[in-house]
Order: sequence, then structure tokens, then C-alpha cells
Amino acid sequence: MRVLVTGGAGFIGSHLCEFLVRQHHDVTVLDELSTGSVANLASCLDAGTVRLVEGSILDRDLVSECVRGKDAVFHLAAAVGVHTIVDSPLQSLRVNLYGTENVVEAAVTHGVPFGIASTSEVYGKNDADGLCEDADRVLGSPLLSRWSYAAAKGLDELVAHTRAAETGTPCVSYRLFNIVGPRQTGRYGMVLPRFVAQALRHEPITVYGDGTQRRCFGSVYDVVPAMVELLGTSAAHGRAVNLGGREETTILGLAEMVKDCTGSTSDIRTVPYDVAYGSGFEDMRRRMPDLTLAHELIGYTARYGLDDIVRSVVGAARRADQTRSKAGAQRVGEAFGHGELVA
Ligand code: NAD
Repeated sequence: MRVLVTGGAGFIGSHLCEFLVRQHHDVTVLDELSTGSVANLASCLDAGTVRLVEGSILDRDLVSECVRGKDAVFHLAAAVGVHTIVDSPLQSLRVNLYGTENVVEAAVTHGVPFGIASTSEVYGKNDADGLCEDADRVLGSPLLSRWSYAAAKGLDELVAHTRAAETGTPCVSYRLFNIVGPRQTGRYGMVLPRFVAQALRHEPITVYGDGTQRRCFGSVYDVVPAMVELLGTSAAHGRAVNLGGREETTILGLAEMVKDCTGSTSDIRTVPYDVAYGSGFEDMRRRMPDLTLAHELIGYTARYGLDDIVRSVVGAARRADQTRSKAGAQRVGEAFGHGELVA
């Protein structure tokens, strides 16, 4: 199959590309490389198994050109991360609304089945014990930019499913619940990579809020195959499907796991939300998926527990640190006129 992955140079997108390449699909990525990077796709680009088109989903003609002739589209490009959304609310909204509309219009125009990445954020402050897909949304004020991501992703689902139904185009939306794994960056407010980086540097691990908020983390290695399988499953078409993990933890508990796993001497410190994100920030106490629908549709079960996930993220961060320090040493060596490691 010829497949387009928007946002394919990002965290989840790059794992999805690798998975599709292993299944012998012909993969094109459209990414503007804002939060994503060429490094995430290095192995695929070096092997020539993925074609990267650098550009924005806001460019309607480019999107249409990329979608034309494909057999499937996975739409993951988005303005992502609490810092991104809070720091650039309007631009984030534009990308997440108009960019998604461009992808949806291109997919239905060219008759290409498509999956879009939605989010557990659409449930807002609903802290039910197991959120199923038809659960109510409980969002804060529309004037708080913190909720703009949830608002946009909710509208994305509506646009996608309405246009798909009107045109008979297969479409699935994936409601992703705190997906983590190697390559996720902590720069835009993602909690696990931020904790791991702080722990490996033996700096204080900073927990936003009082740390008693509860979350369920899912492994990218569970979610990526499920995204592909769902798009190939006709019973999933027209549905929004929760995907994520099975183990719940407090954020303080997560910080402690990271500290144990890294053997770090870091302190764990709480930071009030308004210091971390500015005044008026609201968070949800709990977010826990009901994964029954995904199980019924494709037999989905989360294979990786939180321990496995934390270990894999710590291992990957250590390897990345080693690679960086070797590359730094190499550069120092070259600067001193000898091409070998000096540190
Ligand atoms: P990411 O930031 O690593 O990936 C997003 C990618 O989109 C990046 O490569 C970025 O460069 C690209 N991008 C941003 N704006 C673009 C634009 N205008 N045009 C083209 N490309 C653009 O984040 P991720 O965690 O891999 O998220 C992937 C998708 O999954 C997003 O749609 C996100 O909303 C959704 N999601 C992720 C999670 C999670 O826990 N990671 C949870 C819920 C939903």
C-alpha cells in the first residue's frame, strides 16, 4: 500500500512509519519539522524506505498532492504539548483545525481511507472510572487557551466523521491516552521524558500540581499496530476508539518510578500549575480509558505495563545521551586535528 503519514517525523508518527515499512508499505511523510525531527526518521531515511516532504498541513495544495494516489492516510500532524498550546494558542488552533480540515478534504476528495489522531483530552475534566467513547465532555471556559487543543480535536473528529459519512470514505479517529515511549521529547510539556531527563541529570524532578492527579500511560508499541489494524477493520469505520494503557498511577508515583529506575539522586519537587503554565491553568484529577471497544474491534490489549515503558524510555534516553557525548567528543577530536575520540 502507498501510505501518507502526516506528522510522521514526530514521536508516534516515526514509530508508525517504521511499523509500516516493516510491513512493506510505501511510506510518504508530510511534516513541517516543528516538534518532530529528521533524526526521528533517520533509519528509514538512510535506508530510503520513507520519503519526507517538508511542509505544512496548512498548505492545502501540498496536502492534496501528498494524499493523491495513496491507499491510506494517517493524520498525526498537530500542534502538540501543553507548552505549545499555552504559548501559541492561535497558531495551534489554526494548525489543529484548518490543517486537519485540509487533510480530511483531501482524503475524501481522493477517496482515500484515513485515520486521525484524536486525544483523551476531548473528555476534558470528566474523571469517570473508565472513560468510554460516548462519555460526556467536561471542558473549562473557552477563554482558557489550555482547552483549545481539546476543543480543536473534538471538532476535528466531527469534521472527519461527517465528511467521511457524506462521501462514504472509511475513517477512524484514535483517542490516544498519554502515549509514551522512546523518542518522545519533554520539551513541550510531556511528563515522562521530562522526568527521565531530570533524573538522569540528577536535577530535581519537577511534578506540576500536587502530584496526586492520576493518569494511565500507554506504550507507543501497543498503540501503533492498533492504529493500522483499526483502519483496516470495516467495523471500526465511523468510530472514535480509545487507545492506551491499562495501569493507572499518580504523577508523584511516576516520578518515584523514574527515580528508582534511573538510580537517580534527584529530589522530587512539586511546582504549582500557575508557576509551570501561567495563571488560570486547569487540570483533570484523573484520566482512565475504557478499552473495551478497541478490544471488541481488534482484540486490543495493552501488552506493556508501566514498568516496561519506563525502562524502555530510560534505556533509550541513556543511549541517546551516549550517542550525543560520543558525537561531541568526535567534534572536539576533529577540532584538535585528530579524528579519534578525546573524551
Ligand atoms: P509530536 O509533536 O512528536 O508529533 C507531531 C508532529 O506533527 C511533529 O512531527 C510536528 O513537526 C508535526 N507538525 C506540527 N505542525 C505541523 C504542520 N502544521 N504541518 C505538518 N506537520 C506538523 O507529537 P506526538 O505525541 O507524536 O503526537 C502525534 C499525534 O497524536 C498528534 O496529533 C497528537 O495530538 C496526538 N496525540 C498524542 C498523544 C500522546 O500522548 N503522545 C496523546 C493524544 C493525542
